[in-house]
Formats: sequence, structure tokens, C-alpha cells
Amino acid sequence: MGWSFRIAKVRGIDIKIHVTFFLILLLGALQWANNVPDSPLDGALFGVALMTLLFTCVTLHELGHSIAAQCFGIPVREIVLTPLGGIAMITRQPEKPLHELIIAVAGPAVNVLIAILLFLVTGATMHATILDARGSLGELFSRPSLEVMLLWLFAANISLAAFNMIPAFPLDGGRVLRAVLAMFMSFSSATTIAATIGQIAAIGLGVLGFINGNFILILIAVFIFFGAGQETAQAASRAALRARRVGDAYNRYALTLSIGDRVSRVVDYLLTSYQPDFAVMQGGEIIGIVTRRDVFNALATHSRDVYVTEIMRRDFPTVQASASLDEVASLMAERGERIVAVFNGADYLGLVSLEDLNEAFAVLAFLDKQQQLKAQQGVAPSS
Ligand SMILES: [Zn+2]
Repeated sequence: MGWSFRIAKVRGIDIKIHVTFFLILLLGALQWANNVPDSPLDGALFGVALMTLLFTCVTLHELGHSIAAQCFGIPVREIVLTPLGGIAMITRQPEKPLHELIIAVAGPAVNVLIAILLFLVTGATMHATILDARGSLGELFSRPSLEVMLLWLFAANISLAAFNMIPAFPLDGGRVLRAVLAMFMSFSSATTIAATIGQIAAIGLGVLGFINGNFILILIAVFIFFGAGQETAQAASRAALRARRVGDAYNRYALTLSIGDRVSRVVDYLLTSYQPDFAVMQGGEIIGIVTRRDVFNALATHSRDVYVTEIMRRDFPTVQASASLDEVASLMAERGERIVAVFNGADYLGLVSLEDLNEAFAVLAFLDKQQQLKAQQGVAPSS
């Protein structure tokens, strides 16, 4: 994800903060400065501390998902923290519904665990703090103290677990629902049903947001509604891509470069063909890849006379022709690359890019729809 930077690395997973994340710190500071009119600076610092702790819990939640995924052999590239929560980039869909179930539950389970620990450690003092405030939340949240911090954190972890278990994509509850359904039906039917329930839940949340004038709730409802739609589309594309080999998808007629070529030749190719990526060949073997972006970057700093070998990338993922397009898409997500070289044994065949996969999916989806229409027309007269 762009506009984010790394703050830590845990078990090979980059933990990154999106720049907009600082809005949430600001919001926490403003709210608590407002809560504590006697000393707004103390309030603001307290607010920042609370938000930092909250997002530490969000990170632990995402690590719960990630470590569960790693236990099933699924690599996790990064966790990105945004104001709306954390996102763990789990690179592929677990094969078994039970695995998806465990990965989805692992996140909220971490928050439940934190809440239990907080309760065990500070249960007695929390009780005293609440009694002291005589049941008034306003009174309670106007005095920054360690007790208030722990109590707030306890409530926040309970809310995190409860909210995430709402059965709506892309929330964890939606994944749990799909995993349970997928134990009894096909993955795509399970996705369709879970996504429909998710969209109904999103509309419910949105209406609730409108009634209460809660803007954040409306925003979350919109986020869930479109997330559910995206999940259905992804499941459909995964099924279509799984059925095709990458050996049938690469461009057989691609132009290639040789080590003596200069950038000017690539510019000519870019202008006369619509091919965006080029393999650099030496004696029948691929030694590097030059993309359109590499050429643009090179032209910004170098002249057109530079050799392609100077700007090519030498490190690129390779796949065998027998791999499915779904596997290739997973590999791209895992490595954060948009292009792979396809081989048959030791023989280089061609390049396949993320755009090629999207294109292949669009064609497959169209053919599939045509076939369904024909099938419907076929049965219509007899019924
Ligand atoms: Zn989660």
C-alpha cells in the first residue's frame, strides 16, 4: 500500500503505518483535550497515549490472523495500520474452510485474551474506579489516570472483538460465516451467501448511522458494503483462474530485447506495439526484464543511448507453465511483483503480468456468462 512506512518487523512481516493514521492520534488528542478542560495539554497527551495503546491492540489482532496463517504455510507480506483499523496482507486464500475459520477467529481471540488479562490484573481497581465515578461516564472520562486508561482499554478490546465478529465481509465475522458455510457447500456459493448477508448487515448499520447521526458508522457501512461485493468478485475470479494454466496465458509473439539493445529501441517498441514489458535475452536465456515504468524512470535521468542491461531488473519471480493462474496471482501478491517469467522446465517461454491475469479473467468471466445464457436458453423451451 502506498503512503505507508515501516515501523517494525515481526516474524518476517513488515508492520507499516499509513500516513493518514496520524489523523487518529490527532482526533484522540482533540477529544481528550476537550474532556479535560482544566488541563487540556495533559488531556491531549492522554488521548495520544490511549490511541497508541488501542492501535497496539489492533496490531496484535492482525498478528493473531497473520501468525495463524503462517502456521498453515500461508505467507503474510505486511500489516498496514490505517485510521479505520489494521489490514493484514495474507497472500492467499487458505485451501480448507477450517483453516480460514481459525485464521479469522485468531484476530478477535487476541482481543478477548487481552480483555481477560486486563480484567484479571486490574479487575478490583476497575470496579473501584467505576464506583468512584458514581456511574457517570462523563465524570469517569474527565480524569486521566492509569485506572481510566486500563478500563478504557478493556472496553476497547471487548468492542474490537464484538465489532469484528459481525457476520459481514470484510470483517472477520464474514469470513467465519463463509468458512462455516463452505464446510457444507461450494466455496463460491458460500461466498455469495455470506456476502449477501454482509451487504444486508451493512445496510442495517448504515440506517442505524443515519438515525443516530453517526458519521463513522455510515462510513464503516459503506466500507463493508463494497468490501462484500469485492469479496464475491474475488471468489469468482479465483475459481476461474484456478482452472487455467499459465502456460496457456503468456504472449507467444512477444518482442524481446537482446543485451546489445539500447533504451531507444524499447521506446520504439512501446510506440509501435502495445506490449508494456520486455524480456532481455542472451543466447536463448532470459537475463532480465524491462518494464514501461523502468523505461520512463530511465528517460528521466539517463539518455536514450543507455543499454537496456543497465536498467533491467535481474531479480524476478519465475513459474512453471503447469502452474494455475490462481497460483501465479498468489505468487505476485506474496512477492509484491506484477510480472513473472514462465518456464517449461529450463526453457523460457514468456512473461505474464498482473494486467494479463486481469485480462484473462475478464475474458473467462465473459465466456462463462455466455455459456450460462446458452444453457438457460437451452432449457427454457422444454420447461
Ligand atoms: Zn480481524
